[in-house]
Amino acid sequence: MLCPECKTELEDGAVACPICGWELTEEEMAKWLVIGTIQDPPFANLAREVLRSQGIPAVVISGSGFFGNIGLSFNPIFGGGKPGAFEIMVPRDYAEEARDTLDMTLGDKWQPDEN
Ligand SMILES: [Zn+2]
Repeated sequence: MLCPECKTELEDGAVACPICGWELTEEEMAKWLVIGTIQDPPFANLAREVLRSQGIPAVVISGSGFFGNIGLSFNPIFGGGKPGAFEIMVPRDYAEEARDTLDMTLGDKWQPDEN
């Protein structure tokens, strides 16, 4: 992902930027939205790749309890250790574009969340 402040390329799942000091805060998280869920890990991974190729900074969250994690760390896609759906999260500004993109590329392999 790119740092939202200085556009430095950060590691996937980074929550802070070593260049400008940007940190992912709860306030930042509030700007993100879960747009839907995917059951199969390969499709969850594909969804993330497809969205990123469109310039959409998508994050895939495994299991639940993301917001309950102290430090708001991004779980690596297969690191949750918990079977079940993967949630696709994007910044609110990208939600509509992301939904359209996933509809076109994944079809019924993903379940849009209408909220
Ligand atoms: Zn930065």
